[in-house]
Amino acid sequence: MDLGTTTLVFDTFLTPLAAADLRTASQILTGRNPGFVANSHWHFDHSLGNAMFGAASIYGTETTRELLAQRGSAIVTALADPTWVDGTSALQIRHDEERRPLYRHELGGELAARIQLRDARDRVRIRTPDAIFETRHTFPGPRSAMIVEGAGHSESDTVLFVTDDEVLFTGDLVSVGVHPTVGLSDLARWRETLDKVARIRPRILVPGHGPVSDVGACDGLREYLDRLEEVARGGGPPEIPSEYADWLGPGRFARSVETLRAAHPA
Ligand SMILES: [Zn+2]
Repeated sequence: MDLGTTTLVFDTFLTPLAAADLRTASQILTGRNPGFVANSHWHFDHSLGNAMFGAASIYGTETTRELLAQRGSAIVTALADPTWVDGTSALQIRHDEERRPLYRHELGGELAARIQLRDARDRVRIRTPDAIFETRHTFPGPRSAMIVEGAGHSESDTVLFVTDDEVLFTGDLVSVGVHPTVGLSDLARWRETLDKVARIRPRILVPGHGPVSDVGACDGLREYLDRLEEVARGGGPPEIPSEYADWLGPGRFARSVETLRAAHPA
């Protein structure tokens, strides 16, 4: 994001390689090194690349800082453990044996990420946010932008709104055509945050996963959460509702149902 006099990067990807590519792209597009980074939440595919943004200040909430520090030290320990590295072969076998195209695509993505992390394991460094904000923060500039805290997808989620352009970056509060990760999510708070985000009335909405969309994607995700909860409450097999049959990452649906059932036993 070119703020006019500084460059802001929102989220930094999972691997050192992807983060380095993002840094290079931001330099090419704006003609300068990023001065600011903001993390939408602690999940590694949005924050593990922070360390590649040397001199930039990293903005995040205190909760995001704490969770990235805790979980980050766990992943660094795991990467040094040969059994984690061995797990790559098991994933490779699952991928090779999977015949359903969308499931195979999902496993392929997980495998590629794991191989990149494995191969870069000596270079993975945890860098937690060092510019802590509460509730909201405005980046001044010829083109101003604002980060606002919500929650629901994770314990603390931040959105970025580029005021003049009316563009909203939602992190994983919204995904489009991709099953969201519903691990430790709080669905009631997630819905509240989606309402809050929709009230910003962006012209363009950039989701955490999936193609650029508009504010209607907030309703779409709310409906998805409703359907997911219905299936979880129904007690039957975790079948994906037909309207989401072509969404990417289908393996997540059954995992989300299991998570919700474990959190709210019948
Ligand atoms: Zn996430």
